[in-house]
Amino acid sequence: MLCCLPVPTVEIQRGVPLKPYTTFKIGGRAKYFVRAETVEEFREALDFARRRNLRVFVLGGGSNILVSDRGFDGLVIHPAQRGLAVASEDEKSSTLRVAAAEKWDDVVRHAVDHHWWGIENLSHIPGQAGAALVQNIGAYGPQLSDCLAQAEVLDMATGQILEFPPARCGLGYRRSIFNSTEKNRYAILGISLRLSKFGKPDLRYPDVAAYFEERGNSSPSLAEIRKAIIAMRDSKFPFPREEKGGNAGSFFKNLQLGEAEFQKLQKRVQKDFPHRAQERLAEIRRRYVGPGPIKVPTAFLMDICGLKGFRLGNAQVNETQPLVLLNLGGATAHDVMSLAGHARRTVAERTGMAISLEPEPVGFSAEEVAEYLNIP
Ligand SMILES: Cc1cc2nc3c(=O)[nH]c(=O)nc-3n(C[C@H](O)[C@H](O)[C@H](O)COP(=O)(O)OP(=O)(O)OC[C@H]3O[C@@H](n4cnc5c(N)ncnc54)[C@H](O)[C@@H]3O)c2cc1C
Repeated sequence: MLCCLPVPTVEIQRGVPLKPYTTFKIGGRAKYFVRAETVEEFREALDFARRRNLRVFVLGGGSNILVSDRGFDGLVIHPAQRGLAVASEDEKSSTLRVAAAEKWDDVVRHAVDHHWWGIENLSHIPGQAGAALVQNIGAYGPQLSDCLAQAEVLDMATGQILEFPPARCGLGYRRSIFNSTEKNRYAILGISLRLSKFGKPDLRYPDVAAYFEERGNSSPSLAEIRKAIIAMRDSKFPFPREEKGGNAGSFFKNLQLGEAEFQKLQKRVQKDFPHRAQERLAEIRRRYVGPGPIKVPTAFLMDICGLKGFRLGNAQVNETQPLVLLNLGGATAHDVMSLAGHARRTVAERTGMAISLEPEPVGFSAEEVAEYLNIP
């Protein structure tokens, strides 16, 4: 008797170049690629992968990944389900249900247009709404976790749809269960955000406070905050656009140090760096309001280590915001990982601090990543 595999109705493509799906504009091809418009299509794609024993990668807007020059030897599933609607509201708040493939910044614009507070400082972050939860995006003070009401996820092992309250998502600084303990287990189908109808401007971040102080505006509107954030972001590093190279935002995470580690860093800076660097570190310490770890900007470390503008191949450390590694045009993943390794080793040698990557390297083996980033 002839036995055959069921034919999937969802269109599964072969050999799809991933470069155009990333903001870095770097990377090889996916062995298989599928756009999943519905949960059923997602499940079918997972079945396809299971039957062929393929690894699966869920690709959102490609703004927090670096795809290897060899590409991805498995199935890439690209969520494509859109939708943005008020799920519930009361006199104080609106809860917005957002499908995973909505562009995050469209969600922010929608909230600002409707006078809902909570995510305005997260303006102009690229990528999809579902992926925003993966690393609990944050900028200029707030993080997504501040207004998350619920997440709807597909358990990729069982095919079940589950609803997770925020506590189940394990959210922290650039962290969730989705990029740590339960990575590759769940696909996020949608998120619900509780937004306030009567918020007030979040000006705790010094750059934001200074922006409005300079303009004598102590009570900016939502639209003014969004405009300010976009202007500040654009002045620091280029928003990736088709025609100009690319980047993946911050390539390294900021350091979260305990008191003892901070002291260690301070001693090293006092010993090996000019007075100006010591003053800047003291200022970072002054700004810290506990409890919790002391946030030390990795950009500060990269700056004092002379990494601004450093170039390898066609990849370069950004001059104004050195956390960002730039594809100057035609950079390979090898260029970027070599540059990241150089930056990591330089910072470790000169300050004793180990900095870690923010974007996910995709299609690299663990050994390759370790070799690029190795600190002797
Ligand atoms: C110019 C620029 C500025 C940035 N600024 C910031 C910033 O200020 N703050 C900040 O936090 N980040 C920032 N980022 C990083 C990035 O935009 C965010 O992390 C964003 O949320 C990634 O979304 P994405 O759709 O592009 O995800 P992708 O890059 O496609 O994927 C990132 C990770 O999420 C997983 N993933 C994607 N979709 C899903 C899903 N539906 N279910 C499960 N897993 C999924 C992927 O497998 C991968 O592990 C910036 C990036 C750029 C390029």
